[in-house]
Amino acid sequence: MIFKNEEGEIIKTAKEELLDQDSLPKLPYQHLNSFYNLENYLSKTFLGRNTFSYHSSLGCPFTCSFCAVVPIYKGRWKAKSAESVYKDVKYFKDTYRIEAIEFHDNNFFTSRKRVIEFSELIKNDGITWWGEGRIDTINKYSDADLILMKEAGCKMIFLGAETGNDEILKQMNKGGTQTGETIKEFVKRLYPIGIIPELSFVLGMPAETPEKVMAQIEWDINFIKEIKEINPDAEIIIYLYSPVATEGSELYEQIQKAGFSFPKNLEDWLAPAWENFDLRKNPLTPWLTPKMVDRIMNFETVLNGYYPTATDFRIKGFKRSLLRGVSKIRYITGFYKYPYEIKIMHKIWKYRQPETQGFYSE
Ligand code: SF4
Repeated sequence: MIFKNEEGEIIKTAKEELLDQDSLPKLPYQHLNSFYNLENYLSKTFLGRNTFSYHSSLGCPFTCSFCAVVPIYKGRWKAKSAESVYKDVKYFKDTYRIEAIEFHDNNFFTSRKRVIEFSELIKNDGITWWGEGRIDTINKYSDADLILMKEAGCKMIFLGAETGNDEILKQMNKGGTQTGETIKEFVKRLYPIGIIPELSFVLGMPAETPEKVMAQIEWDINFIKEIKEINPDAEIIIYLYSPVATEGSELYEQIQKAGFSFPKNLEDWLAPAWENFDLRKNPLTPWLTPKMVDRIMNFETVLNGYYPTATDFRIKGFKRSLLRGVSKIRYITGFYKYPYEIKIMHKIWKYRQPETQGFYSE
């Protein structure tokens, strides 16, 4: 904890170790309804009724150089056992009739053994779930594992694809064995099984010249379109690259050379320009020109028109067909400029982007 005391001194307390999660005392869930009416927080999402959020582990064993989890956990990961996660899930199912869970762990799928044990335990409970993982980790699971997960209710997995460019993946210190080919192979495997891959991409990485930055943006756009051809169900999330202070990394040195620096004081983070920084939609990065940002944003709009997210379950039937029809020519020809007609439809139907607003719920 860091705080300013009454004398104006900055106090920094010792950092707690990452503890064995199963050795911690049980959380007193029975008191929840004394303070809150929990039912009010359990809404219907595309996963199911009474969707519940849960953290079954802390940290991540990887050290990607663009990720905010790294400076906090420094490559450490500690998880509850499959059995204790299941006990909690069962308690909430029996007490609050939950039908779906969002696992908000940074990396739910780190241990195959734990995921498989959990899938075996939950498979007859009729609960649908979503979690975040790594492509190369889960691509090592067998088809039988993935089929079991699907039968056990795994509906969608959020995965950091970042880019299909192997050189940039290396620069991002993505670790593991993820390559452009692995991404394609994995989405292809998931298609017949029916688990939806929700892939996040980071566009607008720094490069030596503006031409190279633009060329990479076009390359990433084409790669995303290729992914949609392989697996049309794949959900695509686009972020603009927002630097993270992972000092010493090649990427951090590169962005400093390009003229980027973080605010020096806590108060400066409150400036309007920095407000949306952590949403990775407003990058303040000197190597990205307005033309480049427009190209990315316009492509995102057209993509969300031609392939509306399945997580906003109101956009279906007639609305979905109309959006797709209107966006088709743009998507196919690559003419993304001024996609106002799509924006208007998104606005009228209050289209919801999961990366900034969460899953649509009611
Ligand atoms: S695997 Fe994901 S959560 Fe882990 S460090 Fe990399 S980006 Fe962050």
